[in-house]
Amino acid sequence: MPSVCKMYINGRWCNSESGEFYSVVNPANSRIIAKVPKGTKEDVRKAADAARTAFDKGHWPQVTPAERASVLWKIADLIEKNLSRLARLEATNVGKSIRYATESDFPFIIDNWRYFAGLTRVLLGESTYEYADYSKKGRHAALGTSIIRREPIGVIGCIVPWNYPLYIATWQMAPALAAGNTLVVKPASYTPLTLLEFAKLAEKAGLPKGALNVVTGPGDIVGAAIAENTKIDMIAMTGDTSTGRKIMQASSANVKRLHLELGGKAPMIVMSDADLDAAAKGAAAGAFWNTGQDCTAVTRVFIHKKQHDSFVKKLIAEVRKFRIGDPLNYNTDMGPLVSMRQRDRVEGYIKSGVQQNAKLIYGGTRPKGKFFEKGAYLMPTIFTNAKQSMKICQEEIFGPVLTILTYENLEQAVEEANDVIYGLAASVWGRDITQAMRLAAQLRFGTVWLNEHGVLVSEMPHGGYKQSGFGKDLSIFSLEEYTNIKHVYIDQSGRARKPWHRVVYGKNIP
Ligand code: NAD
Repeated sequence: MPSVCKMYINGRWCNSESGEFYSVVNPANSRIIAKVPKGTKEDVRKAADAARTAFDKGHWPQVTPAERASVLWKIADLIEKNLSRLARLEATNVGKSIRYATESDFPFIIDNWRYFAGLTRVLLGESTYEYADYSKKGRHAALGTSIIRREPIGVIGCIVPWNYPLYIATWQMAPALAAGNTLVVKPASYTPLTLLEFAKLAEKAGLPKGALNVVTGPGDIVGAAIAENTKIDMIAMTGDTSTGRKIMQASSANVKRLHLELGGKAPMIVMSDADLDAAAKGAAAGAFWNTGQDCTAVTRVFIHKKQHDSFVKKLIAEVRKFRIGDPLNYNTDMGPLVSMRQRDRVEGYIKSGVQQNAKLIYGGTRPKGKFFEKGAYLMPTIFTNAKQSMKICQEEIFGPVLTILTYENLEQAVEEANDVIYGLAASVWGRDITQAMRLAAQLRFGTVWLNEHGVLVSEMPHGGYKQSGFGKDLSIFSLEEYTNIKHVYIDQSGRARKPWHRVVYGKNIP
């Protein structure tokens, strides 16, 4: 029996205003696992009002950093306590390997909450500056002092994708709450379940009423209503670049601040002195992790033409080791895609690769066998003979498809690697670190890994260049994203300022 869920608004568990529900499906077998309220614009209005009141009149922005840190820390503890249950729910809902959910996604989520719990207490104003009056010859009198305060922004609308549901929601929620903001959160319609469970844990951890609201439902209704709502001050959104563009337009009504983490098309440049075994392992893991539904996934390998054949041989040997199957089996490496619709989309790209004369050397089909029939499964797929101008090299596929391109010199490799609208992440593989650093500087991507692909840590920023968006997740930079800078000036002169006086470079200019 599917579970019947409620949304979380103003500390209450409720149905949507319309009373309607939609079905959430397990992509491994097409079974309905939950009925979730189909939120409306009116539900978003209620959630935004609650978050506004919790910010303007509630105590969350006002409590001491220690108190906020303690709630965030309790959230981390509760997630840890419920890790296996949550990982199972995420694996069932997204189709991701339970091993990856248990050993990677959730430990990182917990680490993130603890990291931002700690950062809550270092969110201090940064500097003071004392101004002197030099206007009277030889006499230096204090005029005033400036203080820089970092303050929460207000109500943040968090719009979350389906590939890492609670993980990416955490990247938005943890720094936003740490800074003292209140939230209206919208999970992706395919994958709302762990976020709803999270709200129960946050409530238990002592997050006050209205500080967190979760509204479920379709992006073009609930997401669009969040973007338009004028009681919401900022949107943090992770998703497709085309959705980011819509949100930019819709959120202009009250000139919202935006934090957009959008699509990617990561290149991997293999220099000719690279350890090819390590590079082949890195390419296989980087391309097919999370069934390729990863904004930083390796999508384009650039290999020197003389090394192409031996690299491809090693790559295929690695990919053959991948175990495709039931996401709830601990040995599975690759589960299904998130939905049949996503699989259709990816298959469309595979067709286009074939039509444009890329050479399909591995996969490209659905795995055979009765077990796979009702799931959104697809084999890991590799194209060689690819050209940067092809659709499969230009557009984000967001599935298990890897293209191999050859280069004659590194200038060409960098130029082609940069020849996409995206700029989220890239990697360079080779032993000559000076050369690799030169390439790292030339690649127009927000993260460049050397001899690795895909490592993320709480302390280091993650975010895009170009149409991969702007703003950083993770790290202290992300905490700063969720704050406003206020300059407070304190007069110390004790006398009324003449209206035409201005202080410039410490001098009083009449
Ligand atoms: P999506 O853009 O379809 O949806 C993202 C969210 O936006 C969902 O909650 C969706 O319901 C909502 N939405 C849809 N239409 C909307 C609208 N008109 N107004 C407001 N909200 C709307 O993305 P997805 O398919 O869920 O996720 C995959 C995408 O996310 C890929 O492009 C991937 O690269 C990107 N992604 C980026 C990062 C990053 O860090 N840059 C991380 C993960 C995923």
